[in-house]
Amino acid sequence: MAIEKHEAVILPGDGIGPEVSAAVMKVLAEAGAPIVWRTHQAGLKALENGNEVLPESTIRSIDELGVALKGPCTTPVGEGFTSVNVQLRKRLNLFAAVRPVRTLPGVKTRFDDVDLIIVRENTEGLYSGVENQVTEDVVMSMKVATGTACTRIAKWAFRHATQRERDKITVFHKANIMKVTDGLFLKSAREVHQRDYPNIDYQEVIIDAGCMKLVQDPSQFDVLLLENLYGDVVSDLCAGLVGGLGVAPGANIGNDRAVFEAVHGSAPDLAGQGLANPLALLMSAVMMLNYLGNERNDRRCLEVADRIKDAYNGALAAGQTTRDLGGELSTDGFANVILERLE
Ligand code: NAD
Repeated sequence: MAIEKHEAVILPGDGIGPEVSAAVMKVLAEAGAPIVWRTHQAGLKALENGNEVLPESTIRSIDELGVALKGPCTTPVGEGFTSVNVQLRKRLNLFAAVRPVRTLPGVKTRFDDVDLIIVRENTEGLYSGVENQVTEDVVMSMKVATGTACTRIAKWAFRHATQRERDKITVFHKANIMKVTDGLFLKSAREVHQRDYPNIDYQEVIIDAGCMKLVQDPSQFDVLLLENLYGDVVSDLCAGLVGGLGVAPGANIGNDRAVFEAVHGSAPDLAGQGLANPLALLMSAVMMLNYLGNERNDRRCLEVADRIKDAYNGALAAGQTTRDLGGELSTDGFANVILERLE
């Protein structure tokens, strides 16, 4: 029998984070999501309260509860702080970043048939933080790839594609130049494909040509598998194909823990004005409910996720949107429209 409620960590974050988090928690509560929140801090808010940018208590709670919804955090620039996001992914070993990118009803963009899943390796590549000063004039950043991490993300991507009934995986790479590191990424993906998932189509595309193909006709791709830096860049490119940062959700997933967050940052230009679009975080919360539903076999989470999804699709189709999507609604105004549609 399913447990009564799932405890989950909420990190409201900085800038627009507290506003969009409050709107999302209101929608989830009204929709009857079986979630009890445990609030923690990270980012600037944590620093202002005399803590580390990512306090140990925050890490411990996510480690214990296994799931978190995270608002955007501001990382002070050039003051020696490691990004909260990079730290979280490393400390909790959240090795897979997944970002679904889909055309939304009523959101006008160049294409009307985008349906992609981006799977990004989250722990190594050029984000390993191995940088040094060689001479006064020369600095270096090391691109790290391990067979273990490359095979782990390839297995995750093929399993995810199978669960989602997807037909094809395309690896974007630059193995023609980075023969050793990107070569290992490709070799690992090829082996997993040939050994375990020959039923799924597999394709390798050099990333520069891949980016051109994406903006010419994204419907030729299905699931994209990329190493860390390429995944970071290409997922924002893909967010732009379907309406921008206000509609781009995401998840960072490990073996038994997951942190869900919107792709956007803390948008200091909008903070405190009630103008931010809470939809990307709401979509991330829907991903969290689906994750809980599947991982913990709790149908209630799946049902609530479907109801919220229907409500926001209906609102978008009716043109009830915040300013970034051409509408007039405030952050709370959009949340209230969703609440009305849930009834
Ligand atoms: P940003 O995503 O905060 O903002 C980029 C632009 O998009 C801005 O014009 C902003 O107004 C707009 N925008 C972003 N989210 C929006 C929303 N929900 N609704 C409407 N418009 C929205 O990126 P930035 O300005 O480069 O970064 C600001 C801060 O956020 C930086 O400190 C950065 O380090 C941090 N950041 C955090 C995360 C995270 O925590 N996941 C991700 C990216 C950036």
